[in-house]
Amino acid sequence: MAGSKAPRPAPGSRLTGKEITRFFKALAAADPEPRTELRYRDPFTLLVAVVLSAQATDVGVNRATAELFAHARTPEDFLRLGEEGIRRYIRSLGLYRNKAKNLVALSRILLERHGGRVPHDREALERLPGVGRKTANVVLNEAFGEPTIAVDTHVFRVCNRTGLAPGRTPREVEATLQRVVPDRFRRGAHHWLILLGRYICKARRPECWRCPVREICRYPDKELSADRTARARPKASAAPRRAAARS
Ligand code: SF4
Repeated sequence: MAGSKAPRPAPGSRLTGKEITRFFKALAAADPEPRTELRYRDPFTLLVAVVLSAQATDVGVNRATAELFAHARTPEDFLRLGEEGIRRYIRSLGLYRNKAKNLVALSRILLERHGGRVPHDREALERLPGVGRKTANVVLNEAFGEPTIAVDTHVFRVCNRTGLAPGRTPREVEATLQRVVPDRFRRGAHHWLILLGRYICKARRPECWRCPVREICRYPDKELSADRTARARPKASAAPRRAAARS
């Protein structure tokens, strides 16, 4: 029988391998060197910033750490400051009491078991108080260059809407991403997906009209007109607006 079969989606994805490559090429073209928006100086301050970012925005965390890091940048500093001292700088963030407690406890463990350094090791990271899989993935990727992909609320939404890696849980989405994202895009994937979700594929109303992956995305309810927005947007602005988050 004549006629060619349609290419199959990659395992776990609704997109084909070619579409996934096009997807990441488009994101890479819009933002060739994606980085976290959290401000940090070294692996320890990155770890602190990521722990603080649970239920807080990166902008809020950066505001708090600008002050905090002026007074404390090492595990020794954090122990000296103590819970009470740390709380003073992070009161504006959700769960600040618990976060202060975890930061003191993890600083102590880093000094006692890891020579004061952040371990380049998933298991050791996940044993630290306040550090779960997502935080470990961010630290491994950003501080140590590992091709890990942290799945937060933005990544979860984007992966489900687009069909790139649909899943019921972050862990399921992460497992599919690890399978289908081509090696050369692994390191940047987490950042590209977060920025896409944060600035374009927003929870309440995705801005599909300026989305770099709109031709590939499988979301059935794409918003292809900007008409309902209060402000007119530049028509060719495909790059996620990282700068908008910087105050
Ligand atoms: S086309 Fe729309 S739904 Fe799809 S990823 Fe882009 S913004 Fe999200």
